[in-house]
Amino acid sequence: MLDHKTIQSLPKVELHCHLDGSVPLDTLKKLARKEGLDEELLARATAPKKCADLREYLESFDIILPLLQSEENLAIAAYDLIEQVSKENVCYIEIRFAPLLHQQQGLQVEQIIQAVVDGIKKAQQTFDVRANLIISAMRHHTDQQNADLVSRLKSMIEPAVVGFDFAGDEQQNGNDKISATTTLALNAGLGLTLHSGECGCAQNVVEAIQLGATRIGHGVAIRNSPEVMKICAETKTLLELCPTSNLQTNAIPDWDAYPLRLFIDNGVACCINTDNRTVSETTLTHEYALLASHCQLTVAEMKQLNINAINGSFASDLVKKELLEKVTLSYP
Ligand SMILES: [Zn+2]
Repeated sequence: MLDHKTIQSLPKVELHCHLDGSVPLDTLKKLARKEGLDEELLARATAPKKCADLREYLESFDIILPLLQSEENLAIAAYDLIEQVSKENVCYIEIRFAPLLHQQQGLQVEQIIQAVVDGIKKAQQTFDVRANLIISAMRHHTDQQNADLVSRLKSMIEPAVVGFDFAGDEQQNGNDKISATTTLALNAGLGLTLHSGECGCAQNVVEAIQLGATRIGHGVAIRNSPEVMKICAETKTLLELCPTSNLQTNAIPDWDAYPLRLFIDNGVACCINTDNRTVSETTLTHEYALLASHCQLTVAEMKQLNINAINGSFASDLVKKELLEKVTLSYP
């Protein structure tokens, strides 16, 4: 069986990793001391192993976000995340965050993004990890707020910003309500991935594809719809699966129901991700190890999942080529 050590040593690609949910716990403690916040509260930065629903899972972010409201802290968070992923041989990562959630102390969108970019660049002087950014809009924000966000991204022209996403409650604010913003993002030349079919229904995934998303955050709800699986396979849409998170939020009830093999058998392209390393207490190595033990994942399948991730990434063609070479050479 694919063991932990082998998984850790092989190069891996991650496309769905939230910055705020993935700041290492030691870093959060450091930031809490720096900001004079009660360190005890950080016990709630990790979500319960089984939450009632997505809303309970998201409560951890109420503890973390107040620590990420200055340029210095955002840069530290990004640096420490890159350091952490380098230790498990993640060779390329797309980190996502929602700038509008980091404005509690008046930072501008541009300052927030620049701080994260600075932290990543500093880390890259030491650690061999390529990284790009996905900017998340929140479903509960207004069209005007999200249109303003996109126009700021356009005027910044930051090459590391390669993608756009919507996160938040897809049941309250579905894909029928976000088309104004997704059109602007696509017109700005950004790749589009949307959290859909996580705790909502399969139809949300169809709507996301219609909006121009080439990737779906989670998308596990399509497991009950052969019709939507067929649409995903035909459109070569990539599902960004996050196993631990999916089980924690009750998007999937238990491992027996985890649909990875169902998706592979139906020709639906998937890749594996952590979602939130700290909130879900996981690593990419751990996610693959879980799939090896619960879904009998083989090394050849792990290689293919990483190739899927590279092909679906928003990296440049040159970077994709380099990553494909690395994976092809490193895997048996
Ligand atoms: Zn997510």
